[in-house]
Amino acid sequence: MTLPDREEVLVTGAWVITMAGRRPRRPFGAVATTHGLVADGAVHLRAGEIVAVGPAAELTAAHPGLPVVGDGTGVVLPGLVNTHTHLSEALATGMGSELSLFEWGERIIAPLGNALDAERAREGTALRAVELLLSGVTCVNDMFVHTARGSLASLGVVDGLERAGLRGVVSYGAEDIGGLDATGAARRVLEVAEVVAEQQALADRCRSADLVGFRWGIGTLLGQSDELLAEAVAQCLANGWGVHTHLAEVREELVQAGSRWGERTIAHARRIGLLDVPVLAGHAIWLGEEEIDTLARYRVGIAHNPVANMILGSGVCPVPALRGRGVAVGIGTDGAASNDSQDMLQAVKAAALLHKLDKRDPWVIDAWDVLEMATTGGARALGLDHLVGSLEPGKRADVVLLQDTVDVAVLHDPISQVVYGASPRSVREVWVDGRRVVSDHRCVTVDEAEQVARCRPLVAGLARDSGLAASGHSLCGVRR
Ligand SMILES: [Zn+2]
Repeated sequence: MTLPDREEVLVTGAWVITMAGRRPRRPFGAVATTHGLVADGAVHLRAGEIVAVGPAAELTAAHPGLPVVGDGTGVVLPGLVNTHTHLSEALATGMGSELSLFEWGERIIAPLGNALDAERAREGTALRAVELLLSGVTCVNDMFVHTARGSLASLGVVDGLERAGLRGVVSYGAEDIGGLDATGAARRVLEVAEVVAEQQALADRCRSADLVGFRWGIGTLLGQSDELLAEAVAQCLANGWGVHTHLAEVREELVQAGSRWGERTIAHARRIGLLDVPVLAGHAIWLGEEEIDTLARYRVGIAHNPVANMILGSGVCPVPALRGRGVAVGIGTDGAASNDSQDMLQAVKAAALLHKLDKRDPWVIDAWDVLEMATTGGARALGLDHLVGSLEPGKRADVVLLQDTVDVAVLHDPISQVVYGASPRSVREVWVDGRRVVSDHRCVTVDEAEQVARCRPLVAGLARDSGLAASGHSLCGVRR
């Protein structure tokens, strides 16, 4: 399938949620806000750009010949920014949900990472792109984790994103050391030169991609040798690259970092100069006050992954405290194997629920806060807020229309309804950079049924080659 052309069109809804500008301080109590909303509104898309946002009656009168999409009953909102995922897990959902992060990494992710290749990356990415687009995502920040020597598997992600017409930032989440051997020495799984070669190949591949950018991936600081970490800092400073990594995800990380470096991971990242480049870090759960200050001072963007954190029992990211200090916090699904889906709308709702429950206080976060995180917050965390995240003239035309379903039938407060009530069923149309990639509730760039059929044998092959079938984590191959 080739990508649809960029359209000139007016997208109309009962409400347009622009997410433009900062919301004024909210009054206490359950009060709907009209800030950033246009009632009976429309968005004018042309040549991949948003050229106007305003009342539908005015825009249709000003452009009488333009096609109008939407019957005026739905909700128009900026495309969601999924700030953290691993498309390397695209074909590996539904395993190990009762394992802690370290156990899960060892038993599921490490064997999986040995068996990935560019075809599995490309087809898995296209499969999950359908799920992402149908949950309103127009931009995804990926970290592809693998140890399949010489495969350059991470480059397949760019092919998959391009086929789907999805905007993205890709990285290779390399780790050159894995655990300790019997003598207590670090076990080397890849050479530094191999990792650097794939990072550079991925950056080169992105140069020819219209909508896909590159970050240098660091799976975890502990999974890298000091030599590779130094290389990361040097390469990012020399090339102007940002970094995509995980920080302070689980308590074990703090203990291991303490015994290896005599300091926790955030202090170590700062000491080696890693925070001198733009960093996007997943999780940031196990933080002290001083570490929150460091993240704010160095403008580290945080990806909050509520569903994955709850499945793995990792802990609760102090989102209200981070946002209170001005840290840019986005929302991520995290990988398909630790979620176990790529439904962004689930992650958005879970973000609100998690913090209300954690603080036993419904006031600690509201629907606006989490929708801000899922749009402009994620865009800021990725340094893409000049392009995406809100519906404003001059930004790229990444737009979602929710319409037709019971999910959005009742719109007393459209932002609250989107956060707590919307599901992929309500996603009717999606434009990425002005191209309509979801139309009438179907992805038009990747045929869902065909892609599922194409991936089925790849899933079975992956279960076999990784050993996950033999170890009993996957029942693929057992069924006759
Ligand atoms: Zn992750």
